[in-house]
Amino acid sequence: MHKYMYMPLIKYNYYKKKGIIMNIFFYIIIFLIGITFGSFYTLAVYRIPKKQDITHTHSYCPNCKHRLGTLDLIPVFSYIFLGGKCRYCKQKIRPRYIILETLSGLCFVLYALFIKLNIYTLTVEKIIEYVFFALFFTFIVLLVGIYNETKKASKPVLIYGLIILIIFVLYCIFLKCMI
Ligand SMILES: [Zn+2]
Repeated sequence: MHKYMYMPLIKYNYYKKKGIIMNIFFYIIIFLIGITFGSFYTLAVYRIPKKQDITHTHSYCPNCKHRLGTLDLIPVFSYIFLGGKCRYCKQKIRPRYIILETLSGLCFVLYALFIKLNIYTLTVEKIIEYVFFALFFTFIVLLVGIYNETKKASKPVLIYGLIILIIFVLYCIFLKCMI
């Protein structure tokens, strides 16, 4: 704010307005990243216990096994656009997908608000902190999600959790050394 202190009021208001609009865009992007993660969670919770590939194989409808196109895979929006049904067999898609996607979108936004991440505070440390949040959040959602489905703690997810924990500890030690 002090940066603009000596500016004429109109100009100050202009920058303030521009900042607010840019922050709204910033949070929309964060929300979109969050729902993309959410979409990955639903897929991973379904596939990891079945030992299926989570990155390469194409998604398909669990009912008619039709391969899904790019348009069917846009988180939240494709669900709304298709009216909650599979494009090919018209089988109803469980609303829990869209709920999970929206919830993770909201969690991503809430955490950004919590650490006051916005276009003015975008530093490397903050971004790294945010990335760690995304990685740990992914770990918790996958662990709980898979436990919920299979009543077992997933080994690959636990290994993933351990790896990010080690990286996080190393990063904290690195930060301490830098100060
Ligand atoms: Zn289908």
